[in-house]
Amino acid sequence: MKHYIPDHLIEEIRSRSDILEVVSANLILKKSGQNYKGLCPFHSEKTPSFTVSPEKQIYHCFGCGAGGNVFKFIMEMEDLSFLDVVKKLAGKCGVELPNPKSGKSSARQNEREMLLSINEKARAYFVRLLKDDEGGRAAKEYLKSRNFYDENLLAEYGIGWAAPGWKDILIHLQNKEKYSRTDLLRAGLIKQKEGAEEGNCYDRFRGRIMFPFKDIHGSLIAFAGRVIGDDEPKYLNSPETPLYVKGKHLFGLDRAREAIRKQNRVLIMEGYFDQMRARQHGIRNTVATCGTALTPAQATLLKNHTSRTTLIFDSDSAGQAAAERGFGVLLEEGLSVEVLSLPKGHDPDSYIQQFGPEKFLEELKNARPFVESYIINTIESGDISTPAGKMEVVNIVLPLLTRIKNTVERSEWVRVLTERAELDDQAILAELKNAIKQDRNVARPPTKIDERPGKQNPELYIVHLMLADKKLALQVKDELPTDKFEDSNLRQIIELFYQLIDEGCELRVDLAIDRVKEPAIKTLLSKIGIEPIPFDDQERSTNDCIQAINKRSLDLKIEEIKKQRNEALIAGESERSQQLQDQLHELRSTLMPGQIPA
Ligand SMILES: [Zn+2]
Repeated sequence: MKHYIPDHLIEEIRSRSDILEVVSANLILKKSGQNYKGLCPFHSEKTPSFTVSPEKQIYHCFGCGAGGNVFKFIMEMEDLSFLDVVKKLAGKCGVELPNPKSGKSSARQNEREMLLSINEKARAYFVRLLKDDEGGRAAKEYLKSRNFYDENLLAEYGIGWAAPGWKDILIHLQNKEKYSRTDLLRAGLIKQKEGAEEGNCYDRFRGRIMFPFKDIHGSLIAFAGRVIGDDEPKYLNSPETPLYVKGKHLFGLDRAREAIRKQNRVLIMEGYFDQMRARQHGIRNTVATCGTALTPAQATLLKNHTSRTTLIFDSDSAGQAAAERGFGVLLEEGLSVEVLSLPKGHDPDSYIQQFGPEKFLEELKNARPFVESYIINTIESGDISTPAGKMEVVNIVLPLLTRIKNTVERSEWVRVLTERAELDDQAILAELKNAIKQDRNVARPPTKIDERPGKQNPELYIVHLMLADKKLALQVKDELPTDKFEDSNLRQIIELFYQLIDEGCELRVDLAIDRVKEPAIKTLLSKIGIEPIPFDDQERSTNDCIQAINKRSLDLKIEEIKKQRNEALIAGESERSQQLQDQLHELRSTLMPGQIPA
């Protein structure tokens, strides 16, 4: 973790803070066996499924999967960064923290604060201008014409107006607020006139409706300005500054994150007005990309809050292209992607205005998996009455299908495509198989997690065993390479455990949780921690599990080679099929009882 507080102090703070005390300050807990239970603060429920273990110093919700240690709980409840939580708890439990060491980092901190304060001052000024009877009239007229003159909404977002003059904000911030030109240039609010001598500056935003752009923590990091006439560009953004990096943030996420988590779904829209309209009508789990293509950094942001995304982009071709790019980015992050197509000519803003939010939510139920909608659209806009037309559809859809790494899911979509496009032509089917085979990905299909941590799920069992006994944990590490684990989540936990062992750390769930980013794994870890299982004979169980995992890994390898051999046989590659047959023979011999390979 990149901060200046040494690990031993973090450990000290952790050990002096009690999760039961911290959680009790926020909700009512009742004792239940070893643990405490209460109504989850992260999702709405009527029967308590939020569980706290004072012994393990962790919490886990069986309803929504929220889970973590004392740091995580405060981060989530109060929307603070890890570092801020550590500082806060340090103050409470009397641990003295060192000052940030290098002057550099504190200078950076100072600059950040200075830029944030400039932005806040600018926002306040823009808001005042919009309210001004004379100065803000044109802007008000424009907002009214778009049905956006809702004072509560405008105040909530801090929407303002930049006057058309050349030095309006410049003079205000310089003379009234006493900021230097250099600082205002750094903040991106003014520009240096090209070729002019130093100091000849003018306002970047002139005659524009101003949208404050906030990061996930609600800090005002940039602005976007929209013209009210026909000028170009329609939207103008702040340049990159020490606060703002393009493509790293999403408009509205600071306000939407709680709803996104509670509903485990995010609606991704295109425009500022779309997002605000949805919010105005109580549809709170929405964010907007605002004219830029969705980036991997944005997908990561979303992934920390949900696994389910729905793209609602304009039905024009630009919108569709943006949706397609967005799909790829979200897919890479392992998020599920649906798409909602609104009737032609509508965006969320116009749709909600015309038909109301209830109808919009009704529409939302028709959101389809992106791939399905892509297949259908391609077929509808193509001509599948001829073999050539069919081939064209296949050629358009195929590249998309090859991006899906999960082979089970992919073959399902191949089936949908062949059915919908009426691909009974054997030649086309063969083409399809070929293309997919060439792109065959080594990624394994996800195995279903067996929730019961018994012998029937040795991978989960072994994680419990490692937590229960240090000596056994070392044995597992010696005897089981991580690639033997089929379940990718458990494999990541095992990788983390091995790493902790290497670093000489204790194997404890509350410690491990800090090292994990992915929500699914956090959830799994806190669940494992809160539900320890009793073992009869830990040593024997460990050996049984190691053996079972080895055997299954070998079985899978044999299956894969068998498949390759059969393919080679069908293709008439006799030499290769013989080689594979020999390999099979060798592998099978290692499966003889008592000869499980290490
Ligand atoms: Zn919950």
